[in-house]
Amino acid sequence: MLFSADYIFPVSTPPIKNGIVEVDEEGIILAIYSPENFKGNKTHIQFYKGIICPGFVNVHCHLELSHLKGKLTEGTGLDNFIKQIEESRGATEKEIFSAIEEAEVEMIKNGIVAVGDISNTAHSFKQKEKKNIYYHTFIELLGFHPDKADKALEIGLSLYKQLQGLGSITLHAPYSASTKLLSKINNWSGEHKSIISMHNQESEDENLLFVEKKGKILERLKQFGIDTDFFEPSGFSSLQSALIHLTKCDKILLVHNTFTRQEDIEWAQQFNTHIFWCFCPNANLYIENRLPNIPLFVKNNCTICIGTDSLASNWGLSILDELKSIQKSYPQISLAELITWSTLNGAAFLGIENEIGSIEVGKKPGLNLISNLDGLKLNDVSNVLKLV
Ligand SMILES: [Zn+2]
Repeated sequence: MLFSADYIFPVSTPPIKNGIVEVDEEGIILAIYSPENFKGNKTHIQFYKGIICPGFVNVHCHLELSHLKGKLTEGTGLDNFIKQIEESRGATEKEIFSAIEEAEVEMIKNGIVAVGDISNTAHSFKQKEKKNIYYHTFIELLGFHPDKADKALEIGLSLYKQLQGLGSITLHAPYSASTKLLSKINNWSGEHKSIISMHNQESEDENLLFVEKKGKILERLKQFGIDTDFFEPSGFSSLQSALIHLTKCDKILLVHNTFTRQEDIEWAQQFNTHIFWCFCPNANLYIENRLPNIPLFVKNNCTICIGTDSLASNWGLSILDELKSIQKSYPQISLAELITWSTLNGAAFLGIENEIGSIEVGKKPGLNLISNLDGLKLNDVSNVLKLV
């Protein structure tokens, strides 16, 4: 099959105007041509208006929360959001499973080929076993109190055993992991040469907890009946307080980064050279109605990835919709950057950059057509069609 568009974005090499991509029946890239280099029969080429890029990598999702679509109130802040999730438990397994299946169909339709997915339960495991999409599952451990660390690891490891596929043990966020739990995760990660994904600085209260032992998170922990007396604030930001204990992890994905400042970025990049920064702009708009300062991360040469987060905190599971929101707020960011973040960078984090993430001979990245652009800028009506 031969596909052509106004531009081909191979990602690993510069865009090719009116380029042509040849793929076999299985979607493996056979050749990439500039219009001058193509010597075959042009009548076999399918021409499109727009750009062709590799399949998207969604590095942050919670498939198991898909049944909460539209159930939680928008714009109420992270603290209230967590409370609402707690209150809305009680769906039947049937509802949960069918919502997961639908969510996956939506991701495939939107050109997503690989997902980093958070799990607290085994609800999504059966769907993942079908291998319709490539999944890496992050089994999330929760335990603010050090006395909970052993039990949290035990629960996590039993889930990990049930998972038929790739996965890691990870923390949810600095504010839900004691140093004892962090040290257990660190050791496990070192032994398994594993990758970590953690929610980071989604609200200012996360920093407040670690710097001053104050704020809404502390109040919420108390309301949940969790003993907080033992907790000594480190005096540093939540990010620094947690990362310092994660010395043996290889790649670390930091998700959200809505309240991350310059000094945190510098500190983190020096601490570990394999930090990946994931933005889920629509979830930020949904929950906190505020976007991270993405140009600041670009200025600091951060490796940026894109996630959709869950349907509990988003209107849909579309990487293109995330990119559109970024483009709207930060028009100076180029399409080439946005495409790199949502394809090759995500693949590199998941360790599958040799198979997907860029249009290169021998890879099987999937092909997306993005149309309705303003030149090479995304706008509100830009859309994605999965070609392969
Ligand atoms: Zn999340």
